[in-house]
Amino acid sequence: MATTIIEPGVIPPHGAEAPFLRRAERAAVFGLRARRFMTLAQGHVMADFLRFMGHLAEAQQRTLDAQGAPVLPGAGQIKLCKAHGMPPLGTQTLRRDPSWREGLHSLLAQVESQANDATRAAMQRLAALPEADLEAFADRLLDGDYAGLDLAAAPLVGAALQVYWVRLATALEQADFSRPEAHTLCPACGSLPGASMVRIGGAEQGLRYLHCSLCASEWNMVRVKCSHCESTKGIAYFGVEGGDEAVKAEACDECRSYLKILNMEKNPAVDPVADDLATLALDILMDEAGFLRSGPNLLLFPGDADA
Ligand code: FE
Ligand code: FE
Repeated sequence: MATTIIEPGVIPPHGAEAPFLRRAERAAVFGLRARRFMTLAQGHVMADFLRFMGHLAEAQQRTLDAQGAPVLPGAGQIKLCKAHGMPPLGTQTLRRDPSWREGLHSLLAQVESQANDATRAAMQRLAALPEADLEAFADRLLDGDYAGLDLAAAPLVGAALQVYWVRLATALEQADFSRPEAHTLCPACGSLPGASMVRIGGAEQGLRYLHCSLCASEWNMVRVKCSHCESTKGIAYFGVEGGDEAVKAEACDECRSYLKILNMEKNPAVDPVADDLATLALDILMDEAGFLRSGPNLLLFPGDADA
């Protein structure tokens, strides 16, 4: 049997079964994340924070399970996006239907009893916002325009938008997506990745996928390449001494940015959102080393993380 040697992390061009795009598993994405949060909370200095995020992820899964497909872009629009290598569910172009706000109110009702005083106050502020203000809040969060935003409430809005975009991305067919011009943005929704994953199992073994911070889709990118500027020079890996070997920061000397890379070969249970929030010490280290984080985690409660 002939053996083909391929560069680590690249999908082989012939006989490849690994998809360039892996969409979230609708029935399990947030449920698995919730379990991971609860595991990470055990004995952690930020145990209360991580446990609350676990409850929020559970609520995200229940909300997702309860809601059907949202209003989708028309077939013509999807075809046009595909022809131009554009994400069909782009946050800038897609008109959100009101069901994302129903999802938000469902999340708030489910986690209220688990929240601390500061978070409960933020929930009450959100619940009191008129529809137009809530839509403007979501627009700004999706644009990464955080100045003056209610940062304690932002992760709850972020969690609701994640549910909505997972509903969107999983309602389309795999054939509706194309590998876009920009390899650094999500092919489904155009958002930045929040982390990257070295995956295991079958054709995906050892391949690196960037994980969308919004719709949880993952797209293939070769390893040892900057996920922000695509440079292959000056890539270095940082970790916290004595920290989890499965979580590193992949840093680029060219653009001075970093993104965490989670290696399932080292720990198959790692989750791109939960493990990110459980390793904020690594973000502090990278900040001190002069690197800027290139993608967001929409669930970060700044107040809780400082405490
Ligand atoms: Fe996405
Ligand atoms: Fe770079």
